[in-house]
Amino acid sequence: MKFSSLNFSSMFKKEEPMQTYDWKFGTRSKNKLEGVHPDLVEVATLALSYSSVDFGITQGLRTEAEQKALLASKKSQTMKSRHLTGHAIDVAAYEGANITWNFDKYIVIAEAVRKAAIEKNVEVGWGAAWLLSLNYYNSAEEAYKAYVNQRKKENRKPFIDGPHFQLSWNNYPK
Ligand SMILES: [Zn+2]
Repeated sequence: MKFSSLNFSSMFKKEEPMQTYDWKFGTRSKNKLEGVHPDLVEVATLALSYSSVDFGITQGLRTEAEQKALLASKKSQTMKSRHLTGHAIDVAAYEGANITWNFDKYIVIAEAVRKAAIEKNVEVGWGAAWLLSLNYYNSAEEAYKAYVNQRKKENRKPFIDGPHFQLSWNNYPK
């Protein structure tokens, strides 16, 4: 009798093998990753292979002057940005050769980052889910919704920065 034919795998909802994609970071992205903490580079690189949406790196390390300019134009809310220390990156999603800011694409990328972060055991936060690192959620969408709901309860507008990812303050204080 062949027990192996029993359908145990569906009973235990075994995880499907991770689908991978053969996107590669271009020269510009690689240059932007210079000075970024190696753990975050590792997660971003693995995430690219887990993402059905191709993406590039538009920002890594940022100077104080650049941060001041962003703050002045309200594109950032802090001078304590993790970009200043190489603990953060911004990505841009590609649709063919063009960049798209469609948030749906950034949820896909964040989900790939979540999987890569868990696999590499590196805590990574997302700019559209500021409560906890992505590692603590079952999906990037869940993380996003938890944050938005929390802000609603507090009667505050959520600050959504879909392209932004950073190492957790707890595990990477400096
Ligand atoms: Zn950023």
